[in-house]
Amino acid sequence: MSPRPPAIVILGPGSLGAARRVQQTLAGSIVHGLAERVTEADSGFTNFGETLRQLFTDDVPLVVFCAAGIVIRTLAPLLQDKRVEPPVIAVAEDGSAVVPLLGGLRGVNELARAVGDGLGTLPAITTTGEVRFGATIEQVPAGYEVRNPGDSKRFMSDLLAGERVRLLGVAPWLRDSKLPFGDTGRLSIRVTPQDVEPAEGELVIHPHSVLIALTGGGSDLLQHAMSALKSRNLALQAVAAIIAAESEAADPGVLATAEALHRPLRFLTGARSAEALLAAARPKLANIPFSDGLIAIAVEEEPIEVTTIGRGRGRLAVVGLGPGTADWLAPEARRELVSATDIVGYETYVRMAGPFRADQAVHPSDNREELDRARHALRLAAQGRSVAVVSSGDPGIFAMAAAVMEALHSSDEPAWHGVEIAMIPGISAAQAAAARVGAPLGHDFCVLSLSDNLKPWEVIDLRLRAAASADLAIALYNPLSRARPWQFDKALEILRSYRQPDTPVVLGRNVGRPDESVRVLPLGELVPEQVDMRTVVLIGSSRTRRFPRAGGNAWLYTPRWYGAPSKASAGC
Ligand code: SAH
Repeated sequence: MSPRPPAIVILGPGSLGAARRVQQTLAGSIVHGLAERVTEADSGFTNFGETLRQLFTDDVPLVVFCAAGIVIRTLAPLLQDKRVEPPVIAVAEDGSAVVPLLGGLRGVNELARAVGDGLGTLPAITTTGEVRFGATIEQVPAGYEVRNPGDSKRFMSDLLAGERVRLLGVAPWLRDSKLPFGDTGRLSIRVTPQDVEPAEGELVIHPHSVLIALTGGGSDLLQHAMSALKSRNLALQAVAAIIAAESEAADPGVLATAEALHRPLRFLTGARSAEALLAAARPKLANIPFSDGLIAIAVEEEPIEVTTIGRGRGRLAVVGLGPGTADWLAPEARRELVSATDIVGYETYVRMAGPFRADQAVHPSDNREELDRARHALRLAAQGRSVAVVSSGDPGIFAMAAAVMEALHSSDEPAWHGVEIAMIPGISAAQAAAARVGAPLGHDFCVLSLSDNLKPWEVIDLRLRAAASADLAIALYNPLSRARPWQFDKALEILRSYRQPDTPVVLGRNVGRPDESVRVLPLGELVPEQVDMRTVVLIGSSRTRRFPRAGGNAWLYTPRWYGAPSKASAGC
């Protein structure tokens, strides 16, 4: 601890009682109070910021009863060298929380513990004992799991306060650390795969050292696996992985067991029986403590590196990128792009989704055959890879999600059906274009693709008429391409036979991309030359309203009600 006695700083009388309790645990400390509000402090000050900065500069440890953010902002200009800064602690006004902020190398955690003792509160220690012990039990390495994590903070603070600990079981990272081990004492760390309740003063750490091999096809495999573990008194938390045969990659019992235990699945080719699977996974295995034909269990001393066993369960995420800008990409989509091992998609969208890391395999395609791309993605995922199939807008709207479903539906490959599939929604072009001009889709609307590549024109014709006669607002995707020269004209003809020429239309081109353009015009003025494949066309209903927007252009909206018109007038 810093040699100078700490200053306890309070801003109001409500903190005085807590400050006095802290003072009793900190020899020589003085309570400084804001003079205009606290009259009974040991010392008064008028300017909080100046006082705090002066004390800090004078190397006085600070215990400040106010929001952590205020303390940080006040001292931020002075922060330079963590080795010479005095400890600084923020304490909630009423003493209910103690947060060490600065001075990790000068004993802030010890000071925080003393403050916490005075207040009967556990300090929010964020640095743990890592620095001192070369190991921490609050965040254990991969392959281990603390059974009673709620106790680890207290445990660590006891160690930092000088207690010793017994190590029971095998854990090289603990053994090689500088934790204060001893053969006696109240505290112990037990490293075990056994299903034991922690004793008083004991931290139980489960190594992921148990392998369960399953033979699918049976009923209630999960229940069976649980009782097998129980019969050997093994903790669920000690399970490293579930092993199954490649041919059972889509077995519901196998998948449900892995999901319920939150453990990875590993699939092996060749072996079928549970014992043979274990033997293939761990060739040096000496004994199998449990085997009943359906299930076999192996237990090792240390965590098992499961990624070397067979292949994992693959994942295929169909990721909606939104219209283009990263601002319209969901955080979930971003996570999938970061965690994917492989990225599959039309090259424009792959570029839009990037950049990717060198360790990620990118599979751009220029072909428009979505089904091929979907199969390619499933094939990769069935090898255990984590595949992101990228799609613009929402993947479920005229895009890759349906292609992936179709490819899967038409396959009877267990490895494909065993893939974990996730659809990550995105903002669709119609929503993006609508957002630019107000709320043209504020009431019932429908979404139609004008592409007749995969459906006959007669169907499009029929649907356009149905949508127009039902007075729905309409979003037209894939409005026009060189291969489909006359269709848009025909669509306009149909729409005009149901809608007035002054019906508002939105042309959103490249919405959310650098060369975005959004225009509002009346249906009567719309000509095919104004649209292309990068345009989404929104056709208002008979209720869609237009009114001037400050700064030019227009606002559009389709009111939420139906019936008597409001004061706003229709049309363009
Ligand atoms: N899944 C996409 C749609 C794919 S179909 C989505 O939900 O948005 C392709 C059509 O979508 C294009 O022809 C165009 O009509 C529309 N589109 C896609 N992105 C667009 C964008 N950024 N701006 C305008 N229209 C877009």
